[in-house]
Amino acid sequence: MPIATAPSAFHIMAKPRGAVCNLECAYCFFLKKEKLYPGSNFRMSDEVLESYLRQVIEAHQGRRVTIAWQGGEPTLMGLDFFRKSIEYQRKYQKPGTIIENTIQTNGVLLNKEWCSFLHANKFLVGLSLDGPKELHDVYRRDKAGRSVSDAVMQAARLMQQHQVDFNILATVNAANADYPLDVYRFFRDEVGAEFIQFIPIVERDNESGSVEGKTVTNRSVRPEQYGCFLNAVFDEWIRRDVGRIFVNHFDAALASWAGAPPATCTTAPTCGFAMVLEHNGDLYSCDHFVERNHLLGNIMEQPLIELATSEKQRTFGQNKRDTLPRYCRECEVLVACHGECPKNRLLRTPDGEPGLNYLCTGLKSFFAHIDRPMRIMAELLRKKRAPAEVMQMLAVEEARLKQEFAKASRNEPCPCGSGLKFKRCHGKN
Ligand code: SF4
Ligand code: SF4
Repeated sequence: MPIATAPSAFHIMAKPRGAVCNLECAYCFFLKKEKLYPGSNFRMSDEVLESYLRQVIEAHQGRRVTIAWQGGEPTLMGLDFFRKSIEYQRKYQKPGTIIENTIQTNGVLLNKEWCSFLHANKFLVGLSLDGPKELHDVYRRDKAGRSVSDAVMQAARLMQQHQVDFNILATVNAANADYPLDVYRFFRDEVGAEFIQFIPIVERDNESGSVEGKTVTNRSVRPEQYGCFLNAVFDEWIRRDVGRIFVNHFDAALASWAGAPPATCTTAPTCGFAMVLEHNGDLYSCDHFVERNHLLGNIMEQPLIELATSEKQRTFGQNKRDTLPRYCRECEVLVACHGECPKNRLLRTPDGEPGLNYLCTGLKSFFAHIDRPMRIMAELLRKKRAPAEVMQMLAVEEARLKQEFAKASRNEPCPCGSGLKFKRCHGKN
């Protein structure tokens, strides 16, 4: 395929140490991927590193190139590997382009030297943290079963001291999902994070770590629990943090309500622009599909751009839309949801069609819950006003309702407009 038809931007997460990690988080499906490469030393060679960076920089048609490092645990490669990667990036950088690096880490190895490097080279760091110590420690421990939350918090402090940009990546799992405000306020008030990404744990119950089987482990968040978690965090955010704290699900939803292009692959109608590069140059369709049948090829044998734009990868991305059951296609929140991530589609619809997302109940509850404030923010955006104005508007409305609730009698319609009698709605208690 000629380079001219390449997408203007695509995303590849490189795993220079493959699935190798210094922790053993109980819900991590990726640790099992070591089995894909028996006998490997799981270290990206200099040859693969240089070839990858040259190819990915050449292939990008846009002004910005993002180089994303992930794992396993990428810091296990050591700093010299990343110093070398910066040298190669400078060698192949095209005039007028900007190269940005991101790195996802558990934070345990970050020290002053690392932080100086990350700051000097403007890395954006994603720090994995599941909440306060007692919640983080439930599933995220080292190989000896010891707590690492103090080390992660120390990494956050060090990054702040060295002015390293970082955001929080938190899983929503069976253990922390019942504590949405403890988790959110901890990130906002204790850690001082401004960008928070929540990822639901939907862990298939199998030994391969692959997307197969119809049951999930008891570490997985329950669908209703997930909806309640997002709703509670949203209620706090919409009242005091809009424009100040950025939460991936809320940004993505606002993009949908405002008619902007999808902000994440999970909320897009099709996907396939977020691939994974293994330590040996193997390119896979997606981080969640590092499996033999989703191997696109090896960039040392076939140009990366050919693999990224191959028929196989296009089909992978379009399958997200083409395999949606009718139940989703007719769903009133389809435009915001698009069936979420195909890796979570393990249920049957009420009429028996396969392919319904495990999280559906929670997603529906969330999208219904945020509808009105999202409409207000989308309208503000259309008028070129700041979405943060919604906070003042809701505060005025709540104060008015409070006064009306105080005056309402039990059998009157509830002042909130639900259509229910006051005694069955806000007057229940
Ligand atoms: S909310 Fe449920 S039914 Fe609607 S699109 Fe999403 S997964 Fe499908
Ligand atoms: S499979 Fe899921 S995570 Fe992967 S690209 Fe598609 S939506 Fe994104």
